[in-house]
Amino acid sequence: MEIRLKTLTPLWTGGVDGTCDRLHETGIIGSLRWWYEVIVRGLGGMACHAVSDPRCPTKVKVGTSEKQVWCVACDLFGCTGWGRRFRLRFAEDGVQGYAQRDQRDQINVRPSGRNRGWYYGAGRLGNDPANPELRGQLIVLREDQGAVINQLTVPLALVAAWGGLGARTQHGFGVVRATVWEGSQQCAADLDRFLSYIEAKKAEHANAPNVSAAPRLDEFFFSRFRFALTGEWWKHVDGLRTGDGRLRAWVSKHSVPVAPAVKNQLRFGAFLPTVRSNRIENDLFGSLSPRQAAKIHVSSAYLLDDKTWEVRVWGWIPGSLQQREQVLNELHAALTKPPLWNQALGTTLSHVDYEWKEQGNPPRCQPPCLEPCTTTAEFLRRLL
Ligand SMILES: [Zn+2]
Repeated sequence: MEIRLKTLTPLWTGGVDGTCDRLHETGIIGSLRWWYEVIVRGLGGMACHAVSDPRCPTKVKVGTSEKQVWCVACDLFGCTGWGRRFRLRFAEDGVQGYAQRDQRDQINVRPSGRNRGWYYGAGRLGNDPANPELRGQLIVLREDQGAVINQLTVPLALVAAWGGLGARTQHGFGVVRATVWEGSQQCAADLDRFLSYIEAKKAEHANAPNVSAAPRLDEFFFSRFRFALTGEWWKHVDGLRTGDGRLRAWVSKHSVPVAPAVKNQLRFGAFLPTVRSNRIENDLFGSLSPRQAAKIHVSSAYLLDDKTWEVRVWGWIPGSLQQREQVLNELHAALTKPPLWNQALGTTLSHVDYEWKEQGNPPRCQPPCLEPCTTTAEFLRRLL
């Protein structure tokens, strides 16, 4: 099996000394696992969580003896005493978004009002500028190759359409078109088969540890925004230093790091009054101390055709958050109207072309849903 990642924005897979020195498969596998867990939890299955206790495996009593059990995600991706069901190997490392020499050599993006700003390493893209694909091998290690591949093609299809792959997706890295191929045939993401596999595993691993407060698909929103922009529009993006040759090199590969400008408006502007008045900025946008992962992700802008640029915004707004509905309403109102984008991108848009998806058909969805999607399985089907 061959896996192909067409990089629409640079991909970040971690590495040594704060650079993405090569393509690290572990960074891709870790991210795939994260998405898989999100889907499994959304479907009512169990998936242990990297930042919580307990982790798999756990011991359960069966009659008079003890047996080890693990969650559906560990079953596919491995845990102590149980190996991953597949192997991933990339033959090529691609090219850097710009020629980054070392850890200190980063692009500083500092939107207005910020003292420090965001720091961007180079990330990696496919070699061929016309078709920037990174090709790797996907090897299934145990029986039933097709079933295992299908467990990976479904999360890959979700990532390709709406999310991001690898690390630092909250900074805009990792927008990829990800596909799996057997010879010249693309392996389809068969959702029905995916769902029945998970149902079977749920029964088998019913005693694995349960975690609350972990990201789950039914509590996600996904959106894509499209802009007709020409020429060197990126020179007006808030916080970009246009004289920086490294930034020019990055942009010449058809993506622009706009996440700092957009997040700066969301986090510090007047667009989300509920977030500000309840002081949940760190909770939603992340913080360094105490360390907290961002729940809202903004992609870099990437070129769809010769003049259409797209930006993704997606994230997990926990069901336990009391102000969840208000936060989503304010996010939607802010992102679907021109002022936020005009301030962030330095544009003069009078209209925002967008799509928005959530489970349960709230009026925020665009295009409006014709049929109800009350279950996560149905929601997932709409997203693929
Ligand atoms: Zn587990």
